Amino acid sequence: MSNDAISADFVALALTGVQKLTPYQPGKPIEELERELGISGSIKLASNENPLGPSPKGLEAARRALEGVALYPDGAGFALRQALGRRLGVEVGCVTLGNGSNDVLELIARAWLGPGRSAVYSRHAFAVYPIVVQAVGAEARVAAAHARDHAQPYGHDLNAMAALVSGDTRVVFIANPNNPTGTWVDAAALRDFIASMPAQTLVVVDEAYFEYVEEQNYPDAMAWLAEFPNLIVTRTFSKIYGLAGLRVGYAVSHPQVADVLNRVRQPFNTGLPAQAAAIAALEDEAHVRESRAVNRAGLAQLTDACRERGLYYIPSVGNFLSIDVGRPAGAVYDGLLREGVIVRPVGAYEMPQFLRVTVGRKEENQRFIAALDRVLGA
Ligand SMILES: *Cc1c(COP(=O)(O)O)cnc(C)c1O
Repeated sequence: MSNDAISADFVALALTGVQKLTPYQPGKPIEELERELGISGSIKLASNENPLGPSPKGLEAARRALEGVALYPDGAGFALRQALGRRLGVEVGCVTLGNGSNDVLELIARAWLGPGRSAVYSRHAFAVYPIVVQAVGAEARVAAAHARDHAQPYGHDLNAMAALVSGDTRVVFIANPNNPTGTWVDAAALRDFIASMPAQTLVVVDEAYFEYVEEQNYPDAMAWLAEFPNLIVTRTFSKIYGLAGLRVGYAVSHPQVADVLNRVRQPFNTGLPAQAAAIAALEDEAHVRESRAVNRAGLAQLTDACRERGLYYIPSVGNFLSIDVGRPAGAVYDGLLREGVIVRPVGAYEMPQFLRVTVGRKEENQRFIAALDRVLGA
């Protein structure tokens, strides 16, 4: 059906905030690239997925759960919330499940943001924050990020963020570490920031990469939940647990905050196999340890390669690295695609010369580096 057959301008009829949205650009699927270029054997280092795949225990649990999918899952996700509560040392009533943690971020916006209210986040912060804030018609206040010569280049400047908070600010989003920069904020600075926030301002600490971080002063914000009822910590099974395709994430908060999130949450927002896989993956500490070790080695491999080539990169504590290719990154991205290597240009994050590459297995990283050499040399 063509566009001319339309009876009304449904874009103009959409809510004001929705009209201004541009769809989130996900990493290119391998199948799409290979269909377009007629190639095979491509690798995807574009969406910060776990190169080791899912926890075998999680996968087995999902397979078993498939037998039961004629029935709706437990809408409250009790077993998974109980497993998380036990693991994290919080009450079940503090845990809200999401269809990925992006779902939880959206629930937060729907519950507390809207016209006449504002949200604060940093420049170069995770792309889902602007989307969920705009969609509900709230004002987005974007704080300047740290400069390139700062110890956390392009990272969140908590002072700049605090300066944008006013009486109508209901939510502040902090990605720790942030994607795509890989930068992080330390325990003392983050704690001081949260303590300085007005009581009516919720602080969302997005810890999607929590399990990867090994820095000394990297905070576990969950430890402060009892102290700060306006704190929400989000985590996910999409990254180190290798379950991105199943869509499970969660928020941990004060039970009253969780109660509000559960009012806007769709009753069956996490599927049965997803819940089962997450419970099993949570127990699979060996898989998490191995994933962390592979990431540590791969990150060193990539940063060494950048240093040898004089390529600037933002020091990262996540499972990805943003590299300045010294020219508009779109053409380099396209060149890499033709080499069968999918990475992520981050122009949409106002970083037009950067490519973000997910840390892969050794051979995958090597293949990326060799392809990058060819593309940059050409
Ligand atoms: C990947 C990511 C998420 C979560 O994605 P889900 O798959 O929806 O759980 C959240 N925050 C950041 C910063 C991320 O990079």
